[in-house]
Amino acid sequence: MTADLDRLTIHEAHRLLREKTASSVELTQAYLERIHTLEPKLKAFVTVTDEAALQQARRADESIAQGKITPLTGVPLAIKDVICTKGVRTTCSSRMLENFVPPYDATVMEKLNALGAVMLGKTNMDEFAMGSSTENSAFFVTRNPWDVARVPGGSSGGSAVAVAAAECAGSLGSDTGGSIRQPAGFCSVVGLKPTYGRVSRYGLVAFASSLDQIGPITHDVTDCAILLNAISGYDPRDSTSVPEPVPDYTRALKPDIKGMKLGVPKEYYVEGMQPAVAEVMKTALKRLEELGAILEEVSLPHTPYALAVYYIIAPSEASANLARYDGVKYGYSYPGESMWESMEKTRGTGFGAEVKRRIMLGTYALSAGYYDAWYLKAQKVRTIIRREFDEVFSRYDALVTPTSPTVPFRIGEKTADPLAMYLSDVCTLPVNIAGLPGISVPAGFAEGLPVGMQIIGKPFSEETLLRIAFAYEQATDWHRNKPALKGI
Ligand code: GLN
Repeated sequence: MTADLDRLTIHEAHRLLREKTASSVELTQAYLERIHTLEPKLKAFVTVTDEAALQQARRADESIAQGKITPLTGVPLAIKDVICTKGVRTTCSSRMLENFVPPYDATVMEKLNALGAVMLGKTNMDEFAMGSSTENSAFFVTRNPWDVARVPGGSSGGSAVAVAAAECAGSLGSDTGGSIRQPAGFCSVVGLKPTYGRVSRYGLVAFASSLDQIGPITHDVTDCAILLNAISGYDPRDSTSVPEPVPDYTRALKPDIKGMKLGVPKEYYVEGMQPAVAEVMKTALKRLEELGAILEEVSLPHTPYALAVYYIIAPSEASANLARYDGVKYGYSYPGESMWESMEKTRGTGFGAEVKRRIMLGTYALSAGYYDAWYLKAQKVRTIIRREFDEVFSRYDALVTPTSPTVPFRIGEKTADPLAMYLSDVCTLPVNIAGLPGISVPAGFAEGLPVGMQIIGKPFSEETLLRIAFAYEQATDWHRNKPALKGI
């Protein structure tokens, strides 16, 4: 087989399979070998499903031989371990679900399976998707392939690393406040959080149900459109999924943004932003202008409140969602003398520190006497933030911001300071609060480390985002840079 995995995108893998230059079994074997070589150092996967993957690959090859091929038939992918996979352990990187094997597939998995995709394994994450560095995994830390002393971002760190290190052709992550876009930015790959309701959440282990969305993490924008096509659409099993028609997102891939109006919200170029990141953004914005877009500074004055709003609403919803882990129904169970002891010890030992912090924050915000002051107030500010975006989108096609205010930080650098960690998501959280789509594309390097550019759009404007991202990608070479993986 001649495939160079380093450069293998989903669309390129599809071409090889279609032209019969490579079989799915060959591609899958090549990825599995690479995974086993790189994993001792990178640790992007919680579970590698060698046997099942090869079996899926064989089936894909049979289907291709019969002339039946979809854009994902036989293409090896990795899946964040927060998405339920029938018969395959789904841990959420938590002791609580360490041995949990779901009896059903998430809707996105049903869709991928129906298209003939191959799953290589389940990727590491911050426990229950709470975190920005993948350091909150109960199992191990995932390392950034651009510098293994640094974090890959989070919470979908494993999915971003698996793509960046070419351990798969593409992956799925989930994003509640930035968990697809921030690690994509930190690893120099593409990550898209769809509009709330675009993709079914059925079978996505819930963190904060009014914010969570599943989305693609890929080598390039074309792959992002292909995976988004595969997972989007209404699902009667998720009452918040929206019955909007799903366009063919690959049709948006035209490198033409002449005359498009892009807002540059000044509040996102925040204090505390690394000067080297600001430099990269300046060059990226100039490039968009050279491509014919009209850039103007705009203001979203309530942006500074988004972080506080998020850290009331997300933990409140989490405290309710995580009440189900009581040691009785499924998952980890501590054998106590009484029911209460058992429940207390199950939750006390099954959850890690950050998850407990969120449950306590949320329970407090929802408790009688504090509900109005915290939860209700946060919901009101959420509405203001959403309206502010609506107003801006009546004048602009999209907004352009950095994905994160810093480059990937060192492992251990922020673990002792939760607030510093929370600040990693200042640029991404408002997008979830307003239910908007957002994409992060590679925008360059600062001090040798990746910087992502975020493009935000109005609800269901994924086509616009992909078009801008594609035009930018085609005019730059950032997505072609691959980590050297020296010494791994
Ligand atoms: N880092 C944010 C948090 O810890 C967002 C996580 C996410 O998007 N899942 O909540």
